Amino acid sequence: MSQQEGVRPAYSGLYVNPAGQRRGEFQRACAGLFDGLRVADGAEQALALLAQQPADVLVLDLEHCEIGIDLAALGHLVAQREGRPLLVLCPYTNARWLPALMAHGPLDYVIGPLAPDALCREVGARLDAALLPPRAPAAATPVEAELAALLAVRSRAQQALAGADDGIRFGERLCAALLGWPGVVHAAMFQLHEGGDLRLEAQHGQAGLDLAGVLGRGERLLQSPLRHAFPGLLAAASGETVLLDAVDKAHEPELARALRGQGVQMVVGLPIPASGPGARRPTAGALCLLFGQARPFSRAQLAAFEDLAQLAAFGLRMAELMRENEELLGRVTQLATLDALTNVANRRHGEYLIEQEVKRARRYRLPLALIAFDIDRFRNINDAYGHPVGDMALRTVADTARGLLRSSDVLVRAGGEEFQVIAPHTSAIDGLKMAEKLRAAIEAAEIPGCDHLTVSLSVAQLGELESGDSLAVRVNAALARAKRAGRNCVELAMQ
Ligand code: GH3
Ligand code: MG
Ligand code: MG
Repeated sequence: MSQQEGVRPAYSGLYVNPAGQRRGEFQRACAGLFDGLRVADGAEQALALLAQQPADVLVLDLEHCEIGIDLAALGHLVAQREGRPLLVLCPYTNARWLPALMAHGPLDYVIGPLAPDALCREVGARLDAALLPPRAPAAATPVEAELAALLAVRSRAQQALAGADDGIRFGERLCAALLGWPGVVHAAMFQLHEGGDLRLEAQHGQAGLDLAGVLGRGERLLQSPLRHAFPGLLAAASGETVLLDAVDKAHEPELARALRGQGVQMVVGLPIPASGPGARRPTAGALCLLFGQARPFSRAQLAAFEDLAQLAAFGLRMAELMRENEELLGRVTQLATLDALTNVANRRHGEYLIEQEVKRARRYRLPLALIAFDIDRFRNINDAYGHPVGDMALRTVADTARGLLRSSDVLVRAGGEEFQVIAPHTSAIDGLKMAEKLRAAIEAAEIPGCDHLTVSLSVAQLGELESGDSLAVRVNAALARAKRAGRNCVELAMQ
């Protein structure tokens, strides 16, 4: 039931804002709601006026306030108002200060900007709610229900950390948890990647709603024309909590239409704090909650938002550490298994791979060939042109051989100027063909800074019950024969 003219009680009010123009605007829009409305240009003056004469309600307008500087004084005003209802008018991008003010005492708030008639309506409704005696016996306060819902969201969000070895999977589980928040119809996580690339990493909720479609893209979102309008993007860019309590207030009609079309009325962007060494970026991204209806948030809820953003930061950092760990492990494995000069498998890793292939060949009864080759008279190359040219020759021989092999073959530097090719699924005959191709290609290869060179080769096929060691012994014996036979030729190993 709305109050009718004449029936409505008259309230005395005190409006606080430093800008004269704002005070004028408020008086023009809302003076009719009050029996007496006084104005103050700051917290100090407001307290002085209250000491002279109390007011039924206090309206604190944060537009034009230097909140960072005035926070202590404003907090003092919130704390010292002696039980009088307080309504805070908060501009869209200053909403991050609300929890700090709420720490000083309970308050109600409206997010601006508001047109004069909307301002009058909102303030009037809150005056009635705050000051009129309840018309019906008050329903049980929903505080316990609210706390239970928040705890459930938090506990599900914590469980999402179990999937934090992967950033995207963590994001999906976290968004699913956020759907438990009362009124949330869709939740999303944006993550800021190297080079300032903000990406839509995960989203969950309303079946027909795809935020990548609404925003026109899912990547490089800090370069999107909507970065100043959409709370998820604005929060990631500015590091501030952004409450958009009516989608039209962002002044992007297309965006508002698309969101409204999906039943979204309110959007909240929560910055995910950057963490980890250096933390060069302002944020690690943002969480974005889309609500079916505009709603105010209690102090407990705003604090829970902050908790969730911290939890997201923790999860993303864990995923990042996990990825760094894997990369490091990959690099260490590479260092341990590759020959530094030629970048092919080193001898130790080659021996391990031969053992593996021997087992596989036995199990599946497949042929396996081992080819060995050694550069002919390599000492002369070193002596004539120097060691660096010799190194370059080794690299050229390795590159030439690698270029001829199948992806299943492995090239190994078995020592000095000696190489091996482990060739699965390869018989002696096919191995001989492969060896001949290698011989011809290496002979034809241009070696920077010196003459052409040749290699001697040998081929052995694994016997039915033979070990890897025995295969290596046979192939080396055949290689020695190739050398004795005059070099630049291929020898087949005896069984
Ligand atoms: P053969 O035809 O009998 O194989 O004659 P060779 O001269 O190639 O054989 P030998 O075993 O006498 O010499 C191998 C040479 O390879 C000696 C060594 O200095 C050289 N060598 C081994 N590893 C490297 C390397 O990493 N870089 C360079 N530049 N030379 C190497
Ligand atoms: Mg040699
Ligand atoms: Mg040698």
